[in-house]
Amino acid sequence: MSWIHRPESWMIDVVADALGIARERVEHLARHRTIRYRVFRGLLYASLRREVAGYPEGTTIVFGRGWWRLIPGYPSIQRMVLPSVALPRHFVDKIVVEEKLNGYNVRVALIDDRIVAVTRGGFICPYTTSRLERVLGDKLKAMLRELGPEDHVVAGEVIGLENPYTRYFYPEAPRFGYFVFDVFRGDKPLPPSRRDEITEKHSVPHVPVLGVLDKNDIEGFKKIIERLNMEGREGVVVKDPEYRVPPLKYTTPATNIGDIRYGMRFFMEEGRGFLFSRLLREIFRAYEEGLSGPKLDAVALELGRAALQPAVETVKKVAAGDMVYEEFELEFAGRDELEEFIDYMQGLGVDIVLVEAREENGFLRARMRKMKETWIQVRKMLETGLTPID
Ligand code: ATP
Ligand code: MG
Repeated sequence: MSWIHRPESWMIDVVADALGIARERVEHLARHRTIRYRVFRGLLYASLRREVAGYPEGTTIVFGRGWWRLIPGYPSIQRMVLPSVALPRHFVDKIVVEEKLNGYNVRVALIDDRIVAVTRGGFICPYTTSRLERVLGDKLKAMLRELGPEDHVVAGEVIGLENPYTRYFYPEAPRFGYFVFDVFRGDKPLPPSRRDEITEKHSVPHVPVLGVLDKNDIEGFKKIIERLNMEGREGVVVKDPEYRVPPLKYTTPATNIGDIRYGMRFFMEEGRGFLFSRLLREIFRAYEEGLSGPKLDAVALELGRAALQPAVETVKKVAAGDMVYEEFELEFAGRDELEEFIDYMQGLGVDIVLVEAREENGFLRARMRKMKETWIQVRKMLETGLTPID
């Protein structure tokens, strides 16, 4: 319903203009669904499914009357497997070690004096937009107005349990929080110190800065990782104080193994890609830390358990006739907002079911389920005794 399958001619011109490519190329990319057109509350926009002309995946172009606005996609961050090698090689002198929060990436722009929340894939998410508007709308607006709303975008992580994408509990934001990690002018991020200054001035939360170290201070870096690991937190993103080189990321072992445990509940979807990438990180950690003998055995057992246990639980569940889904609770201003969100998810091809909705403190709280492909596949495997892969 909110997809536009035949963009008007002027929209194609705008996209060509915005990306600096030929009209024919835009039409070609749209035929291959690399460029997709949608509408959000009367606002027309296009988004990129993959990199085009140097613009990253998730780049969004919003169409106005006589104006357009390009919101660049958030660039991908390279991962370190050996910080002791990568940090001194990659960075210039000092490093800013920031916490990497585990939620989902949201870019916020001010358009027609309204904030819009754009997810990694380049879609304007109605749920995130409304929720952010309620929690931080005025502050974000004031901040963007001061920065210059025509060419500034803030990027941050939404964390907490009340969202349809990534749920991870944080005591500082148990339900819904937003923490800015970058402020962009065009496609250039501001230095972390400037980001902290402007967000603090407007009482907008930013990601915690855990330390500013010398790039050769591997011991100092390891101490930070150890502490995060004990606290069960995801990891770090390391940045140059002046953003002269791109950031690098690193996750704690607790997260790597926790991700496997979590992902393998749905082993026919998330589980597959999850497993190898996390295993790779643990291979290099075991090497870097020189793990062997009983210490290596302990990691092996933990890893093996994380991969097997949740998956076996899922098979048992399906065998007992239960369904396999993710369940979460979301907060809406009212019925209209709830319906808009369900439409939006259906448009994205996500199978979402409303279980129950109730009123609470003037809001509508809805319990929803996202059905999992794993359920269907495991049912078939139990029926036929055959595997769909290899
Ligand atoms: P990538 O495209 O970088 O591989 P991914 O979706 O696999 O992305 P992650 O492994 O979660 O992402 O790492 C990058 C993401 O981490 C960023 O896109 C952002 O959402 C999130 N993030 C959390 N904290 C920070 C931070 N302090 N600085 C930058 N990004 C952060
Ligand atoms: Mg993430």
